Amino acid sequence: MQTPSALQMLHLWEQGQDRPPWVRALLLLEAAETGMEHAALTRLPLGERDARLLELRAGFFGETLSSLADCPACGERLELNFSIDEVRLPGPTATLLLFESNGLCVSYRLPDSTDLEGLPPGPDATRALLEACLQDITREGVPATFADLNEAEVAALIAHMGEADPRADLKAAMHCPTCSHRWSARFDILGFLWEELSAWVRRLLVEVHVLARAYGWREDDVLALPPWRRQYYIGLLRS
Ligand SMILES: [Zn+2]
Repeated sequence: MQTPSALQMLHLWEQGQDRPPWVRALLLLEAAETGMEHAALTRLPLGERDARLLELRAGFFGETLSSLADCPACGERLELNFSIDEVRLPGPTATLLLFESNGLCVSYRLPDSTDLEGLPPGPDATRALLEACLQDITREGVPATFADLNEAEVAALIAHMGEADPRADLKAAMHCPTCSHRWSARFDILGFLWEELSAWVRRLLVEVHVLARAYGWREDDVLALPPWRRQYYIGLLRS
């Protein structure tokens, strides 16, 4: 994996602005995983995709993650700091997973980016995603279909799929210092990284504006500077 440059990242962010989140993930990984074909990237299980996005984030912004969260017990706004290492988890060893319960036997694969295209919005999305990933269903040894499953079985299968690759559903351990409440909050690396990139782009463009105006440099030249040097020149201008 290679970490994109500031200029590349700016272009990636512009390309992804009006695209759905799963396309943004592919854009970012295409720039980082230069040895992988587009088709292979689209076939990465979502947990594997997210694990690679975490590494991309570590390379570009560093290992420490900072986020804001509201305590569900007392409403206090908390600043959460944790290391990427705390959410580096091992992935599943098998590509085909097996769910067995009361004579029902279902084999399925993990969802990937190709399954996300055209998913219905809202709560039906998870169900549709599950259906797309099912391979073989039998009940008491007799072939069955997705329509034969009852609601409890569908819910159990969705939970089974979530546990099969915890990297696709990362959780961060939270603790409120005000009321001592503890809970675990979902950590969506793709949404987090995109928000972080959006804030970074806004800061970057202010830096370009300040330096281009002061020194007459071209945008590309300012973007090619290492971040510390941009900061240093801006510091000189303000001193
Ligand atoms: Zn609290």
